[in-house]
Amino acid sequence: MSNDKKIIQRIANERIDILIGNAKKLFEEDLQTSNEIARKYVHSAYLIKRHYRIRRHIKDTCNKCFNILIPGKTCNIVVASSKHFIIYKCMNCGSETKFHYR
Ligand SMILES: [Zn+2]
Repeated sequence: MSNDKKIIQRIANERIDILIGNAKKLFEEDLQTSNEIARKYVHSAYLIKRHYRIRRHIKDTCNKCFNILIPGKTCNIVVASSKHFIIYKCMNCGSETKFHYR
């Protein structure tokens, strides 16, 4: 990977972090009115991720409806201990995200 590409990817990663941080702040302040704005922030974070081909998982977000996932408020968590993974189920669109743990 060239030096330029590294810098571009680092800046894109920073921007994703800033967008997600702001979306979470908005979401925690007011669950109703800022919901759409928070979702737009998350959506643009996903657009940046796709445009710069960044291989990472954007934490605590739904990759279908771009909702912020807060356990008990916007998502349900199922722990499948026999298969060693946690399932985050979005309450808005019903999509499931699996995470492995040891
Ligand atoms: Zn969703």
